[in-house]
Amino acid sequence: MKQFTIRRILIERGAESDSLAKVIPKRLPDIPKELVDSHDLALPEGTEEMDKESLRIIHHKGEFLKPCPGTKRYICCGYQILNIGINCPMDCSYCFLQSYINQPSLRVYTNLPEKLDEIGEYIDSFPGRIFRIGTGEFTDSLALNYLTGWTDYLLPVFSHRKNCILELKTKTSSVQSLLKSIHRERIVVAWSLNSPRVVTGEERKTASLRERILAAHDCQKAGFVLAFHFDPLFYYPRWDEDLEEPVRLLEKYIDPESIIWISLGSFRYMPALKWAIKRRFPKTKIFDGEFVTGLDRKLRYFKPIRIEMYSKLAERLKKWHEDLGIYLCMESGDVWKQSFGWSPKTSINLSRYLDNRVRKLMVG
Ligand code: SF4
Repeated sequence: MKQFTIRRILIERGAESDSLAKVIPKRLPDIPKELVDSHDLALPEGTEEMDKESLRIIHHKGEFLKPCPGTKRYICCGYQILNIGINCPMDCSYCFLQSYINQPSLRVYTNLPEKLDEIGEYIDSFPGRIFRIGTGEFTDSLALNYLTGWTDYLLPVFSHRKNCILELKTKTSSVQSLLKSIHRERIVVAWSLNSPRVVTGEERKTASLRERILAAHDCQKAGFVLAFHFDPLFYYPRWDEDLEEPVRLLEKYIDPESIIWISLGSFRYMPALKWAIKRRFPKTKIFDGEFVTGLDRKLRYFKPIRIEMYSKLAERLKKWHEDLGIYLCMESGDVWKQSFGWSPKTSINLSRYLDNRVRKLMVG
């Protein structure tokens, strides 16, 4: 299991008595610990602005379970985000967190275990609804698991509830704790996939493509349902040839029957992100190409380019298996129709489509 460099542990005042605040520092006995105020954000000299080598332990005062904000202007999937922390020890050049977060350090919320009963009761109060919940929106779902033990306390809560699934999205191959767990029902393990060129050139400190697929293979053999996300796709000469490799690896190692969904999305960004990326990754190639401002003010590739990428990749994936639950992330009905020949038309219909995938594969 990959471990990341952590140089200091900062425990925010107010978090000291949370269960995780006691456990995490014991897992890093030789790392200096400091009790700090929440407004004390000073970085040691020479520290990079994202401060990915400090672990900040926080008592989270906000909501833990929230609907994905999405946007009314595009078709969204109706996902729920379980907010376990923010920032990530890996370092993808395109990561939106670089302009989204305004506070440094790897931040983990230590009162999450204490909140799980409440979250469970909330889910139980809607027995007719399917909750598709994920932890991988503001951090990687597994990268810091060796310190936080997220899977130890999340799996039992979500695995035994019949009206929800928990999706753990990752770019690591750190699945050992999952493989040891007895809780596998209704747990989706998901990998972000890309071309080898993007993985090696733009996704620093992540597992290789092959390591990701082999970890997925192990999880599938152990009874977990899988998902994959080809997002963000980048348009550059021979992008489609490069995407043959992840598809070949899927064909070789993964049984398509127990894939719940595969999402496709193209690179998009708010204007402020470009400057954050250029500052941290001056040599990145991800801004090569032309972009247009979308209805949500994010910059995207021109529509014909997005349609070309989605239709070619979806066609290639469908040659492998017809029924993969392929969907688009944050696109218009028009782009859906021109890429796949059909469109859910509304966010409600896309939610239904994905809920039906859950019913088919997971809710027994
Ligand atoms: S793995 Fe995800 S959260 Fe981590 S740096 Fe990459 S894009 Fe950001």
